[in-house]
Amino acid sequence: MREWGLVAAEELRRIVVISPHLDDAVLGCSYLMARHPGATVVTVFAGRPDAYPEPMERWDALRGFVPGDEVHVARRSEDEAALAVLDAKPVWLDFVEHSYLERDDWVSPAAVVDHLSETVGSLDPTAVFAPFGLANPDHDCTHAAAMLVRERLGPDVAWFCYEDTGYKHIPGLLAWRIARLFRAGTWPTPAAVPVAVDHERKMQAVGCYPSQLRALEADWQISAKLAAPSPEQYWRLAPPPDGWGALSER
Ligand SMILES: [Zn+2]
Repeated sequence: MREWGLVAAEELRRIVVISPHLDDAVLGCSYLMARHPGATVVTVFAGRPDAYPEPMERWDALRGFVPGDEVHVARRSEDEAALAVLDAKPVWLDFVEHSYLERDDWVSPAAVVDHLSETVGSLDPTAVFAPFGLANPDHDCTHAAAMLVRERLGPDVAWFCYEDTGYKHIPGLLAWRIARLFRAGTWPTPAAVPVAVDHERKMQAVGCYPSQLRALEADWQISAKLAAPSPEQYWRLAPPPDGWGALSER
């Protein structure tokens, strides 16, 4: 009982953060990365669409991009700068955000899992931090794919979910996801992960995504939420204690 909530130092020796987009890991896990230099951030939806639509996709227009811009190149370089502030390094996968695609072409977790599993596995992590995957289809897909990777990597890797900044404030959605995981026998429990709560450094990293911030401000009033200040809670995913499983059914 005294151990509940604690995270052993060995578990955090090699951290991988799975990020849906180029910004989510920094928005949700800055204090974690600030405390544990050398983390790797694997961003799933960092790819280029076959063609950028004209007129520009709504968020790209909000971001200030204009036709002809190579949006993913600009956003990858923002990501590199942001992660450098936190002594973390990026790995970018080439999946394309749903907003560029027709509904039938949206990327599925089954399409992501092999590549994600190989990438995360090759980093030999001791702990993986995945998004709860709320509301946005790319976040939902990333979460589902990460849960499949969790099964493949086996019990020696510690798994945590982090709260999707912005989306976690949508009424009920974080509770909905947690309830689903709970009922599936993966009990998400807040963990006391050692972090460095350096708000200035976080804002310096977040500030490396100027294009994202314009759109996040327009749709989510992100600055008010980051200024609150926004806590970063990480939830450990693990089976229930022996004999407690029946609680999932009630
Ligand atoms: Zn996102």
